[in-house]
Amino acid sequence: MNTKTPITVAYGDGIGPEIMQATLDIITAAGAALEIEEIQIGEQLYLKGLNTGIEPSSWESLRRTKVFLKAPITTPQGGGFKSLNVTTRKVLGLYANVRPCASMYPYVHTKHPKMDVVIVRENEEDLYAGVEHRQTNQVYQCLKLITQPGSEKIIRYAFEYARANNRKKVSVFVKDNIMKMTDGLFHKIFDEVALEYPDLQNEAWIVDIGAAKLADTPEIFDVIVMPNLYGDILSDVAAQITGSVGLAGSANLGQHCAMFEAIHGSAPKRAGQNLANPSGLLMGAVMMLVHIKQADIATKVHNAWLYTMEKGIHTYDIYREGVSSQKVGTKEFAQAVIANLGKQPETLPVVAYSNFAKEITTKFSTHKADKKLVGSDVFLDWDAGSPDDLGALLAKANLPNIALSVISNRGVKVWPNGMPETFCTDHWRCRFLNPANKNVSHKDLLDLLHKLNELGYDVIKTENLYTFDGENGFSSIHG
Ligand code: NAD
Repeated sequence: MNTKTPITVAYGDGIGPEIMQATLDIITAAGAALEIEEIQIGEQLYLKGLNTGIEPSSWESLRRTKVFLKAPITTPQGGGFKSLNVTTRKVLGLYANVRPCASMYPYVHTKHPKMDVVIVRENEEDLYAGVEHRQTNQVYQCLKLITQPGSEKIIRYAFEYARANNRKKVSVFVKDNIMKMTDGLFHKIFDEVALEYPDLQNEAWIVDIGAAKLADTPEIFDVIVMPNLYGDILSDVAAQITGSVGLAGSANLGQHCAMFEAIHGSAPKRAGQNLANPSGLLMGAVMMLVHIKQADIATKVHNAWLYTMEKGIHTYDIYREGVSSQKVGTKEFAQAVIANLGKQPETLPVVAYSNFAKEITTKFSTHKADKKLVGSDVFLDWDAGSPDDLGALLAKANLPNIALSVISNRGVKVWPNGMPETFCTDHWRCRFLNPANKNVSHKDLLDLLHKLNELGYDVIKTENLYTFDGENGFSSIHG
């Protein structure tokens, strides 16, 4: 007999309460030992003026149980409401998003009958740090942050997940032919971590062709680990091409807490009619059971669900004449799965989970590189002429220790010797370095800024240029 594990449950909005009830009915009938704490989230709280959609006191329950089974919520139309998922991920440090996407052919129609892919997405970093600025009349920027510990944690998680779930291969998708430093770091750490898992194959894909292959021949992939943005987009693509997004669950995992849910929304038009398919949330709950070390119950539920699907007992969203045998509502579907507990699928692969809630320990290098300041990229808002005009004017700002070396616009070199065809905006990156290739001091940078201020320039930001153990910590300029 398992001892009861406390979990926090939110019934959500729209179809949420129905699919949550069905899910809890199935997993408790299967013997899940749970002590449920219920919290309110979603539309009513947003409309009460809580712009995160959750009562501040609910965080106490989440911190206490550390496990959150969450039904979808409705985000009211209009501005000012913050995504509860993003808030939960950030507040609870849920760095890994795991989404298994497996076809159930021929029971659910798909172009990819052999697909069985797990997307492991980094959840906290990348372009999702939310650091955005408008800098000039014409230009906006979003900062892409890839960290060494963040990348190592998610990549190690992907390899550990693959090993624990008898997977054969881990692939990484990056765009390091362009983003050599950020995506380059993710790729480098992937290669280093892969060496520690000789029992698993590993491979790297440039995200564009990787995504094309995933959409075309997903059966060649097994576990794929990705930085946040690519993972966000491609986990939806992967779920969709299995035949139905309504069947996928997802886990958001952190060092301390974890959240489990369906990937679909609250489907308000289907609410309260006993129509909705509870399978996505049920698959989220299966991942939760593995996480709380009730893998035996997870196995029992998943196999009974597969058996029920094989028998053609389908909700409206996947019901098809000729394939399905019975069109059922949410409650009847749950009752069918409960009646099938203990059975195993006959044609779809039988599932066997082992308890996997591994603490990921990172080993990232604690070596503190020798960091030297060698210059500054000074960004100007300027629209008073051509690149050559700006180059000539900025010569007046040169100081003995720091002088203009190159100007770029949207990353392309425009001075010296730029191409007249290059389109220029009002956003200029002016790279100042020591003329004799020596280090510079912070005082040199301040003197430069002082000078630029005297000359009347609108400096919108500066980015210090460093070397780390003699290697440039900044990208070179195209052109
Ligand atoms: P949705 O996923 O709710 O619905 C998309 C389509 O799929 C609809 O036709 C719907 O009827 C159908 N569908 C979804 N889940 C189903 C299920 N379990 N069974 C049968 N059919 C199902 O997406 P949407 O319509 O874009 O969004 C509705 C609301 O959900 C919005 O307020 C949105 O903000 C919210 N949402 C919440 C979450 C979440 O809480 N994690 C995620 C996505 C969207």
